[in-house]
Amino acid sequence: MSMTECTTRAWGSPSRYIQGRFELENIRKHTEVYGKRVFFLIDVFFYKSLREKFEALYAGSDTQAVYEQFGGQCTAEEILRCTDVAKALTPDVVVGIGGGKTMDTAKAVADNYHAATVIVPTTASTDAPAMGLSVIYTAEGEHIGARHYRKNPDLVLLDTDILAKAPIRFLVAGMGDALSTYIECRANELSASPNYVNSGYRATIAVMAIARACHETVLKKGVQAKLAAEKGLCTKDVEDVIEANTLLSGLGVQNASCAGAHSIAEGITVLEPCARLLHGEVVAFGILVQLIVEGAPREELDELYDFFEKVGLPTTFEDLKIPNASEADIRKVAEASMHSYWDVEPFAVNPQMVYDGIMMANVLGMERKAAR
Ligand SMILES: [Zn+2]
Repeated sequence: MSMTECTTRAWGSPSRYIQGRFELENIRKHTEVYGKRVFFLIDVFFYKSLREKFEALYAGSDTQAVYEQFGGQCTAEEILRCTDVAKALTPDVVVGIGGGKTMDTAKAVADNYHAATVIVPTTASTDAPAMGLSVIYTAEGEHIGARHYRKNPDLVLLDTDILAKAPIRFLVAGMGDALSTYIECRANELSASPNYVNSGYRATIAVMAIARACHETVLKKGVQAKLAAEKGLCTKDVEDVIEANTLLSGLGVQNASCAGAHSIAEGITVLEPCARLLHGEVVAFGILVQLIVEGAPREELDELYDFFEKVGLPTTFEDLKIPNASEADIRKVAEASMHSYWDVEPFAVNPQMVYDGIMMANVLGMERKAAR
């Protein structure tokens, strides 16, 4: 059955999402919901301080906790190693604290024990925490595939004091990833493409409403949020943008799927300088390309260019660290992007259209910068 014949709609999400300043102080209360045997997998940067903090918080309780420092890469070997460390404990709950790779490894360990999964991101830079999958790499950092789980995390727990104090580039990159949500949901809705719930179903009314809220929140509050978080302040604007970057964006991608913006983000990594940028930074440029390929009105483009210029997301090849990109380079990116999600656009997309879109995104970005 083709997707246009499928009228079944479906929804997937984490069971609980809790976000607040100093919320990690309540970690004991949060894990006790799921059991008394807790395995913590923690990023190297936070390992010592959080272990000390948690040992004090669990003092006098009958919870058994095992702490392990994450090895740095989400590989099959690291998943096995961590599963082994947790073996004597046979955890009821696995808590992953850190960046995407730590969270993904924790999700796999939890799945191995059929334990509850608690995910605690330490940056608000992507939509990954809410998702029920892990991206697996080789030890050399080569992406080898995704492992899908029966369920999304049981709890996504955010301590916004930590997120507000992380380097500002992460929050800004998260805004780039979040702004792709509505633009990509819209393309999927127009083409009635399958979402990422199980093997794929139609999008719900809920996801379109969430995608719109995500877009409006970031555009309305992103600049103020950046100003505050740059000073380590955690204002309501910062809290709102963190929710958009993490919850709204995460629900959007799972329940409607990706489109052109993420195709560009994946394709552009064939150029080495771009591979070193943050995911949300390359996604942001991809949004501009997708809109140009779609023939979006200039007002919609200008609104995004304005925002990107204000918060520091890339709008030109220079911003992408490829000021001297050749025609051959850009054609390579366009070709590589065809392996991703362009097929969800409501019309056929070919590499020539993508090439023109990438070039034009840079032309508009340069023109705007020159005019200033
Ligand atoms: Zn993304």
